[in-house]
Amino acid sequence: MTADIIKFILGIKIFWNKYRKILQYLLPVVLIGMLVVIRLTLFGFIAETPYLYFFLVVILCTWVGEFYAGILTTLISAVVANYFFIPPMGFDLRPTAFFGMAFFIFEGILLTYLIENRRQSVQNLHNSNKRITNILESITDAFISFDKDWHIVYCNPQVHDYFGWKRRDVLGKNIWEKFPETTGGVFYKACHKSMKSGMPHHFEAQSLRSHKWFEVRTYPASEGLNVYITDISDRKDVDKLKDNFISIASHELKTPTTAILAFSQLLKKHLTRSRDSQSKMLANKIETQLKRLINLLNVLLDISKIQNGRLELHPEYFDLNDIVNQQIASVLSSSPHHKIIFKSQLKTRIYGDKFRLGQVLANLLTNAIKYSPIGSKIYVRTNKVGQNIKVEVTDSGVGIPKIEQKKIFDVYYRAQSQKDVVSGFGLGLYISSEIVKSHHGSMKVKSQPGNGSTFYFTLPVVAKSDIATYVKRLNSKKDNPWPQTHL
Ligand code: ADP
Repeated sequence: MTADIIKFILGIKIFWNKYRKILQYLLPVVLIGMLVVIRLTLFGFIAETPYLYFFLVVILCTWVGEFYAGILTTLISAVVANYFFIPPMGFDLRPTAFFGMAFFIFEGILLTYLIENRRQSVQNLHNSNKRITNILESITDAFISFDKDWHIVYCNPQVHDYFGWKRRDVLGKNIWEKFPETTGGVFYKACHKSMKSGMPHHFEAQSLRSHKWFEVRTYPASEGLNVYITDISDRKDVDKLKDNFISIASHELKTPTTAILAFSQLLKKHLTRSRDSQSKMLANKIETQLKRLINLLNVLLDISKIQNGRLELHPEYFDLNDIVNQQIASVLSSSPHHKIIFKSQLKTRIYGDKFRLGQVLANLLTNAIKYSPIGSKIYVRTNKVGQNIKVEVTDSGVGIPKIEQKKIFDVYYRAQSQKDVVSGFGLGLYISSEIVKSHHGSMKVKSQPGNGSTFYFTLPVVAKSDIATYVKRLNSKKDNPWPQTHL
């Protein structure tokens, strides 16, 4: 029965769409005719308010037809109502009847205009929604839209390819209830952070299900959160190949280069007694360049270790001030024209990897020298602040614009103003901040262009009784350095 009714309605709809152009003008005539017949058969039934019933016809015809169908209905209705329903039958052009008709025409046109206007707005909204949906349906990336209560209000078909979700199973469902395993994970945290802060968020993670790599962008909106997900597995594979190549190449290059350095040092020693100053100078140059090359190879190896979670730390208690003094002496031996002033109020020994933290200090001091004028002063300070050790290196050099300060610790990042002026790879700060992070500390910068910079890092003070837990935490990240998601 219901099926028959639906079939009948659909039939009418198809018929209407097919002959719409004629029907929309025929309908007013039929309806008005029917109204007249009803009026004439049920005599006196609508005589008191003749125009009121015609408004119904105007509304109906404008709604299903077009603007001009509505105008036509208004005009025909005005004439018919005047002729048939204002007694006596026939055209009545006395002032009251005439103004009544004119007023009806005015109201009818206004009504037609308003209905048409509304219909157009609804149609435009519908069209633009359809356009947006078409775009979202055809893109190769996945798109999910949540309301404020985390119900999935829309997702495109790509969620099936990406995560194996069937749309009809997830639409309208609360995502964390539908996929409880995602709760507390990287995706969950990013979505909540974004919804709470009202700020977009961006992260990359590997799916624990499909092992694909995804780049996820979250965009908060007034009605909830939109999430845009791109499959970046191909890019990650290429990155991995590149990283492997760099790692193997630097490893393989390091052995012969270290051997050549040893030979060049032997040669230099041999030449100390010689009078051949040209050869001595050349041997010195070879040694300096080889040291630079080995330094670069070490940096590349460190990058590879960090990115694969293989950076090993060998923590012990040591006097940080001793290491600072050693690094200052070492840096000054190759750049004697700067003045480095070291002030310390640090009494405690610190627990960490002496070699790696020395490397961090060397990088900060070398940068301070590299990016500040010859003869300028550099200040180094070590302090205990609360439960942390704080180390600061301040220069009065070129400084870093605010907008670049956030990216300065990213791998390969170099400030735009320095790119072509001072040579470098943009790796030192990345390695340093990763070493500090591995110690559960953090590294930051305060700077003003033209007024110098202060790079500082903090490290937790580790009590002897906490060593076991601290070492456990140091190593816990190493099993898997990459964020993973249950999606
Ligand atoms: P590199 O110095 O080899 O380029 P780093 O990772 O050590 O690599 O530094 C990254 C970038 O940060 C540098 O290219 C430079 O633009 C900026 N930078 C680092 N230290 C300073 C500093 N003390 N003053 C101004 N800019 C700095």
